Amino acid sequence: MNGLRVLLAAMVFALVAAPAKAGGSPSIGWADEQAPGFYRLRLGDFKITVLSDGTASRDLSQIMSKPTVVQDAFRTSHENLPTDISINCFLVDTGATKILIDTGAGALFGASSGHLISNMRASGYAPEDINAVLLTHIHGDHSGGLTVAGRRVFPNALVYVDRRDVAYWLNGAEKANAAPNRRQTFEQSHQTVDPYVQAGKLRPFDGATELFPGIQSVSQYGHTPGHSAYMLNSDGNRLLLWGDIVHASEVQFSDPSIAIEYDVDAREAISSRHRALAAAAETGYLVGGAHVSFPGLGHVRLEQGTYTWVPAPYRSSP
Ligand SMILES: [Zn+2]
Repeated sequence: MNGLRVLLAAMVFALVAAPAKAGGSPSIGWADEQAPGFYRLRLGDFKITVLSDGTASRDLSQIMSKPTVVQDAFRTSHENLPTDISINCFLVDTGATKILIDTGAGALFGASSGHLISNMRASGYAPEDINAVLLTHIHGDHSGGLTVAGRRVFPNALVYVDRRDVAYWLNGAEKANAAPNRRQTFEQSHQTVDPYVQAGKLRPFDGATELFPGIQSVSQYGHTPGHSAYMLNSDGNRLLLWGDIVHASEVQFSDPSIAIEYDVDAREAISSRHRALAAAAETGYLVGGAHVSFPGLGHVRLEQGTYTWVPAPYRSSP
């Protein structure tokens, strides 16, 4: 009996596991990663490439201010926690200049992120091509990709960031006052931004500033002291890259008062979110989010007092 069972099991296994080479059909390859993550978009004269740095797995109910609301939202959406949060960067090719907005996590967050450069190369650009890096703020998943193994990843780029973030993360006084579990962020800031300071490549700006023709910073302080969005405008076509205004699309559009543990000033971050959502819904410009599921492009709709995110339709041609 046993011998027969083993024989039958072996025959079934052989059928299931047989590679599909009979009949000449090629075996289908499978790798434990997605195809290169980039997405192209034309905005007037600007050629924009959304570059995925990968994802970070987080249990949002443990790091957001209304855990039961978060749990309920995920349960009713049939989604699990922890969830995978996208980390999106944006390359703007104006013709004259190649500008990168945010640099992903580099080597700081492990293997699920730090893919910016491979995706950039797959999209046809090299890190040496980048003339300017605009940081929405200094935080591991935005400035972490500036420097890997002590080397500046973008050797030809000037780095722009609101001077309030430079003062907070790099001046030493705040680090001394920080709780031990927050000190790591200060250390990572030094590790990744200092090489640009030493090379004379850091260009702090002060509040709303036109940094390049058609590219303007928009102050949205709170998440960090100098957190800034960037408004792109080419021929009247507008795109707001709003950094960390939203970490969890599942809950922060319907309830913008939900904060995340990483907010340096949660109250100010919440009022910045309210203002950003109101402006985007009223004006109707396109939005790109650092943590909205890749490629993170869409519009904000306001209906009966509630905001919703409307993902932009996928386009096979930019
Ligand atoms: Zn972030």
